[in-house]
Amino acid sequence: MSEPTDTPPPAPDKKKWQRPVYPRKADVLAHTPDPNVRVMLRHMAERGMETVFDRFDTVTHCGHGLKGVCCQICNMGPCQITPRSPRGICGADEHVIVARNILRWIAAGVAAHGARGREVMLALKAAAAGRVDLPIRGEAKVRAVARAFRLDPEQGTTELAGQIADILLEDLSRTHPAAHRTLEAMAPPERIALWRSLDILPISAYHEVFEAYHRTGIGTDGDWRNLMQQLLRCGLAFAWSSVLGSAIAQDCLYGPPQRTRIDAGFGALDPDCVNIALHGHSPILPSAIVHAGESPELAALARSKGAQGIRFYGICCSGLSSLYRYGGVSPLTNAIGAELVLGTGALDAWVADVQDVYPSIMEVAKCFHTQVITTSDSGRLPGALHIGFDHANSNLGEVHHLAETIVRVGIDNFPLRRKANVFIPRTSIEAEVGFSIENILPEFGGADGLLRHLRAGTIRGIVNLVGCNNPKVVYEKAITDVADVLLAHDVIILTNGCASFPLLNLGYCRRAAAAKTGPALRALLEELDLPPVWHMGECLDNARASGLFRALADACGQPLKAMPFAFSSPEWSNEKGVGAALGFRLLGLDSYHCIPAPIAGSEAVQSFFEHDTTALLGGRMVVDTDPVALGATIVADLEARRRAIATQATAG
Ligand code: SF4
Repeated sequence: MSEPTDTPPPAPDKKKWQRPVYPRKADVLAHTPDPNVRVMLRHMAERGMETVFDRFDTVTHCGHGLKGVCCQICNMGPCQITPRSPRGICGADEHVIVARNILRWIAAGVAAHGARGREVMLALKAAAAGRVDLPIRGEAKVRAVARAFRLDPEQGTTELAGQIADILLEDLSRTHPAAHRTLEAMAPPERIALWRSLDILPISAYHEVFEAYHRTGIGTDGDWRNLMQQLLRCGLAFAWSSVLGSAIAQDCLYGPPQRTRIDAGFGALDPDCVNIALHGHSPILPSAIVHAGESPELAALARSKGAQGIRFYGICCSGLSSLYRYGGVSPLTNAIGAELVLGTGALDAWVADVQDVYPSIMEVAKCFHTQVITTSDSGRLPGALHIGFDHANSNLGEVHHLAETIVRVGIDNFPLRRKANVFIPRTSIEAEVGFSIENILPEFGGADGLLRHLRAGTIRGIVNLVGCNNPKVVYEKAITDVADVLLAHDVIILTNGCASFPLLNLGYCRRAAAAKTGPALRALLEELDLPPVWHMGECLDNARASGLFRALADACGQPLKAMPFAFSSPEWSNEKGVGAALGFRLLGLDSYHCIPAPIAGSEAVQSFFEHDTTALLGGRMVVDTDPVALGATIVADLEARRRAIATQATAG
C-alpha cells in the first residue's frame, strides 16, 4: 500500500502515447495499387454512396484502445490505464488488462473458425450417415486422415468419414481432460514435446475458449504470464481444431483443390448474365449454389428472363473455397471491397453467410435492385431475405432445395436490373488457383526436389502471405509492397483469403509474374510453368501452407523453426488474424505485420510477443509500419535460416 503524497504524478510519456497517423481516403485514391478500386471509389463518391474509407476518415480511434489499456470487463469501469491511473478500480495493472484483452481476441478467433468448421464437420457426419445428400468426394483425403488417426483401414470410405467427423467434433468440443487427437496425430513430435513441456496442450477448442473467458473475468487471473499461457493454449486450439479440423472436414467432403485458371478482378462481372455473389466463410451452401447453377432447368429459366446465363462471383472466403473446387467462380474482392462490388449495380443476388460480412453492405444494396440473402442463423442483416440453415442445423438435409431457391431469387431479380445503374470497370486478368501440397510437390519431383532449390538459393524462402485488410494502411498496398520485395529476392509466396485478392487481381498469380523474380527463379518457374505466388484458397487453407512447410522440414530433417519459412499478414484486422499469426509462431516461424496488435500499453506483454516467444517457441512477432522495410526484414531473416540449412547440407 502506498501512502498519500503531495508528489505530482509522473508526466505522461508522450512518445508512448503518441497516436499513429492513418491514411485518409484521398491517400487510398492516390496509392491503392488496383486501378479498378480507384475507379469504383470515384464512381461511388459521384453517386453519393458511402464506403468503409469514408467512415474510416470520420471515426475517432481511442488511444487507450489502440494500446490495449481500456478494460470493459466489469461495470465498475470502463477503466483506462494512464500514467495518472496506473491500475483499474479492481487493481488490475496494464499488463493484466492488456493480456486479458488480447486473450479474449484470440478466444473469439478460435470460436469464429471453429463455429463455421463445426458446420462442415456436422455435414460430413450427416453425409456419412446418409442424412444429407452430399457425396463424400475426398476419398483419398478420408483414407489419409484415417491412417493418421489409426482407424481400421478395412472399413469403407463412408464409415471412416463418419468416424473422422466424430473425432474432429470431439476435439472441437471435449470437456473432460483427454488428448487432442488431431494435434497428437498430425503435429510434429518435436512440437508436441515442446508444447507438453510448456503445459499448453489444449483440451478442446470449446474448453479453451470457455476457460479464456473464465479466467479473464474480473478477479480471476491476475498474472499476465498465466494469461499468456492460456493464450498459447488457445493458439493451439485455433490451429489444430478451428483451422486444421475444419480444413480436414472440408477436404473429406469436397475433395482437394484442383489447379485451375480463372478470370479475376472486377472486370470479370458479366453484364449479360444473372450475377450471384457468394460472400462469407461457410462452404456448404455456396458449394450447393454453384452446383445448382449448373442445372439446365435453371439456365433455361435465366435465358427466359433475358440473361445469357448464370455466373457466380467470390467475395472473401466463401467464393474462394467454391472456386478452386468447382471452377466457374470469379474472385472479385475481399471484405473491405464488398461495397465496391455492390456499387457496380450488376449483382442480382448477394448471398451472405458468416464473418467479414459488414452491415454496411445493406446500405449500398439499397441503392440497387440487388437482393441480399442471409443464409446462417449466426449472421442476419435487417432488410435481407433469409434462406438458410436454422440454429440447430437441423435442416442441413435441405441444402439443395435452399440452394435452388436462392439461385431462383437471383434469376427472378435479373429483369429488375437497370442498365443505366450498371457500372463495371473493364479490367480483368487470368489467375491460377487451387495449389496444394498434393499438386505442387510433384512439380518439383517431391519435397526433396523443392528442398534442393531452397538449399541452392534458387528459392530463398517461402512466405505464407495472408490476412485480412485494414484501412489503417493504404488498402492492399502493404500486401503488394511486401510481395514485390519478396519476389525480387526470390522468395516464393503462398497466399489465401482476403490478402490474396490484390495478388489475384493484379497478376501475381499468373506465370508472367515470374518476371518479378531474379533470373534463376524466373528460369525455374518458366520451366515448370508456375507462377511465383501459389494461391491455396480461403483462410482455413493456412493448413495447406503449414502442411507444405512440414513436408519440407521433414525432408530436411530439421524442425520447422530452423527452416526458411515465414508468415506475414501485413494488413490484418480481425480476431482470427491474431490466432493465425500465433498458430504459425507456435510452429516456430516468425510472423510479420504492418499493423501493431493492441498490446503496446504493456511492455511485458509486448515483449512476450516480440521477443520472449523466440526462446520459448522459435518464432516471434515483427511489426514495421513500412511494408518495404518489413519485406526487407523478412528476406534477411529467411536468408539467415536458409544459409544454415545449406551449410548443414554441405557439412553432411
Ligand atoms: Fe476496471 Fe477491473 Fe472492471 Fe476492468 S475488471 S473494468 S480494470 S474494475
